[in-house]
Amino acid sequence: MTNDDRRLGMGAPIARRDFLNGVALGIGGALASRGLPDGLEALLQAQDAGYPPTLTGLRGSHTGSFEILHQLRDGAFWKTAGTPVNTGEEYDLVVVGAGISGLTAAHAYRKARPDARILVLDNHDDFGGHAKRNEFSSGGRTYVGYGGTQSIDSPQPYSRESKDLVTELGIDVAGYGKVLDSALYKTLGLRSGTFFNKETFGSDRLVVGDVREPAFRDAAPFTDAVKRDLARLLDMKTDPMPGLSSAEKKARLARMSYTDFVVKELKLDPGVLWPFQTRPHGLFGVGVDAVPAQDAFAMGLPGFGGMGLDDTPGPGQNWDTIPSDEASSYYFHFPDGNATVARLLVRRLVPGAIPGSTAEDIVTSRADYAKLDIAGAPVRIRLSAPVLRVRHIGPAGGDSRVEVTYADGASVPRPQAAGLKTVTARGVVLACWHSVIPALCPDLPATQKTALAYAIKVPLVYTNVFIRNWTAFQKLGVQRVSTPSMWHTGFNLDFPVSIGSYKHQTNPNEPIVLHLTKSACKPGLSTRAQHRAGRQELLSTPFAIIERNIREQLGRALAGGGFDPAGDVLGITVNRWPHGYAYQYNSLEDDFWVNGGEQPCAVARRPFGRITIANADAGAYSYTDAAIDHGLRAAQELLNGYGSRL
Ligand SMILES: Cc1cc2nc3c(=O)[nH]c(=O)nc-3n(C[C@H](O)[C@H](O)[C@H](O)COP(=O)(O)OP(=O)(O)OC[C@H]3O[C@@H](n4cnc5c(N)ncnc54)[C@H](O)[C@@H]3O)c2cc1C
Repeated sequence: MTNDDRRLGMGAPIARRDFLNGVALGIGGALASRGLPDGLEALLQAQDAGYPPTLTGLRGSHTGSFEILHQLRDGAFWKTAGTPVNTGEEYDLVVVGAGISGLTAAHAYRKARPDARILVLDNHDDFGGHAKRNEFSSGGRTYVGYGGTQSIDSPQPYSRESKDLVTELGIDVAGYGKVLDSALYKTLGLRSGTFFNKETFGSDRLVVGDVREPAFRDAAPFTDAVKRDLARLLDMKTDPMPGLSSAEKKARLARMSYTDFVVKELKLDPGVLWPFQTRPHGLFGVGVDAVPAQDAFAMGLPGFGGMGLDDTPGPGQNWDTIPSDEASSYYFHFPDGNATVARLLVRRLVPGAIPGSTAEDIVTSRADYAKLDIAGAPVRIRLSAPVLRVRHIGPAGGDSRVEVTYADGASVPRPQAAGLKTVTARGVVLACWHSVIPALCPDLPATQKTALAYAIKVPLVYTNVFIRNWTAFQKLGVQRVSTPSMWHTGFNLDFPVSIGSYKHQTNPNEPIVLHLTKSACKPGLSTRAQHRAGRQELLSTPFAIIERNIREQLGRALAGGGFDPAGDVLGITVNRWPHGYAYQYNSLEDDFWVNGGEQPCAVARRPFGRITIANADAGAYSYTDAAIDHGLRAAQELLNGYGSRL
């Protein structure tokens, strides 16, 4: 072990490393004597292999959840697979994918047919899909974080049906102001800051404030030329497209990236882009090099001040940047994000699995995973069960049942050891990622398979780091720090939300969950190529490298506040999503999105006999309302007997 390892706290015993790689070891008293820091030791003892939210290390798409599906994708799987065992289980409905879309479909179907027998299958060891709950504990208290789907939040208004479901689940969206302590960080004098790293700027420097403030730019280590051009960019009065109407300008802006707009149209120093490069990550999963300038304008990025553009959305504008007052007022964040939405659905589907009765008490309720899949129960949720084949027994248009083959218990690092099993159903909702479906259903028409494969997912990482206290943040006066040139491109203290008996910590001496984000992208490539390359990066980066990056990054950015990466980090959960957001169409690359024409998602979601297709991918819209809307539609298509008699 090097001194650097020791400084960062990378030197914990091997048992810990195994644990942090997501492999649940039985840990008992043996670890207690190995000299772990107190907090870490307490944390490890609190972890529980039978309770996935407490597992740390690489989560999200965790080891064991995807390998077998990649074998299927590569055409290798059936060559060596054994013959599936028929379980004899017969259902009215099988749902593939236990994300919000699949759970919604199951819920809607059951409401319409209370006697229905339903099975929900998912390849992960937890339900919720992207809506993922992370838990940490210290001093007898549980701290909750969100590992994916962050909030009820959508750039476009929720449909009547989605709102009805949210209301039915007991979520008081309008009451968000009562649970959010919006003044907390402001009262403590905490703002945002930017970390300029030595690899890019020669030495490390944290600057508090915003690039729009002259004092921030004075303190930042930009060259004089960049400082001069930044001032021009932020107060741009020049129109690089004189003589064109607002609509004509927007049509041109839709076809160029923001980077090209700034460098080629405004002719500014490319160095001015650094503070803005990662700004669109949270929406697009790529930086300004791949974001259309029209969308950059709508996002409020600078440089358009002299162009006289109006607010009317132009052709090809992304849903994410078309403003809607109604949508922006419909917002709610639970401590575990929309995992609460998934948990509320599970509570209704499998009574007794999550104690309690309200959207408040569920925040602290512990799910009993052993109750999810009980023989004889009307609804069963089977985890660690990747589905490998879905096919009609007989002609797709006829009265046949559907056979579903899955691997039982594949969530171990040896996917080939998983037993293959089959069940049958009167109807199947595929609520899984669309890119998986062509391999599951080889019988689908070729055009539909091509359309499904178009739904390339956006790779993302949501990391939760549980820290001993946040006094370093208080000393430095920051609540969120942008780190554009580092592995995670930003981090922030958790939302100050208190719901029911769950209280947000207000004292900087107490532990807190720190949230870090990364969009895995490769500036310079096309958007879709960036998503592919990012996915590869996420799948091939071991936890130890990510952990080192995290410790380095926090240690350096917060050094002035006395943060100690060896002593202050109590736990790390990296929610890796190689298949993250649904792909939303982009005016730089998708002609049909600008000029009209059939969208691939409309072809992809066509029902096929007794198989219907849900997921947020079905709307090419990466939000929970899309997941709900398409879960409801897919269930309804089956209830209507779409494509065949039911
Ligand atoms: C990091 C992140 C943050 C987000 N933040 C927000 C937010 O703040 N607000 C918002 O509205 N949306 C957000 N989203 C978008 C999110 O995708 C949707 O809101 C919603 O949760 C998607 O639900 P879904 O059921 O359509 O898909 P998913 O949640 O992806 O569920 C699909 C499930 O199907 C499973 N599956 C795939 N293949 C198989 C197979 N062969 N067999 C069995 N199961 C399979 C998958 O593993 C997954 O569990 C976020 C997404 C990510 C990744």
